[in-house]
Amino acid sequence: MKQEKIRMQKVCCVCHKVKVDNQWIKKPVNFEDSSHGYCPVCYGRTLAVIREMNNPRLDKQARVAM
Ligand SMILES: [Zn+2]
Repeated sequence: MKQEKIRMQKVCCVCHKVKVDNQWIKKPVNFEDSSHGYCPVCYGRTLAVIREMNNPRLDKQARVAM
């Protein structure tokens, strides 16, 4: 099977890791030639943050903290 070479690198817009062979590694990258996304770690973290923001319990906690 012929494998097409992908020019666009996928770069995590949070930690700036680059997807290489299904792994996310840190390496220098030209952002203009890259497509931005989330690596699994930052994606999960972002989802968790959104969930926390939508969690009314945390809202109460924040008020208590103030
Ligand atoms: Zn990331």
